[in-house]
Amino acid sequence: MPDAAPGSSRFLCPVRCGWHHDAPPLNPAAMEWSAAEGSADISEAISRVSQATARRTASATEAALTAHLDTHTTIDLVTALERLHGQVQQLTEALADTTGTDHDWRHATPEAGLTCSRCGLAHKFWSGEPCPTTDSPA
Ligand SMILES: [Zn+2]
Ligand SMILES: [Zn+2]
Repeated sequence: MPDAAPGSSRFLCPVRCGWHHDAPPLNPAAMEWSAAEGSADISEAISRVSQATARRTASATEAALTAHLDTHTTIDLVTALERLHGQVQQLTEALADTTGTDHDWRHATPEAGLTCSRCGLAHKFWSGEPCPTTDSPA
């Protein structure tokens, strides 16, 4: 597949089938200049053109993604999301293990984020301080 234009945003298929969509970078030829018509001043014109262009780019990307995702079954997509969710959880746990200090990071429920079972601190709010409920080593 040819390389995308510099500045493109690449969207990969979550099923990892190899498909991707490159949303082209903004360029003057692709701007919605007609949206500027009727603007009171230059700043309104700029804002109208950029909003209309962003909307059009977003709907073109959405259409490409929707058309591609329709080639997959719902089971493909759910399986891919499950796999990603499992990987995120494994990475979160691995990170907690290697940086854990004295906190005892646990999942209160399988869906919940990691929380220290001693002090109740959520792992996402932890900035490296040791667990306050752990006695200092003698
Ligand atoms: Zn795909
Ligand atoms: Zn703690």
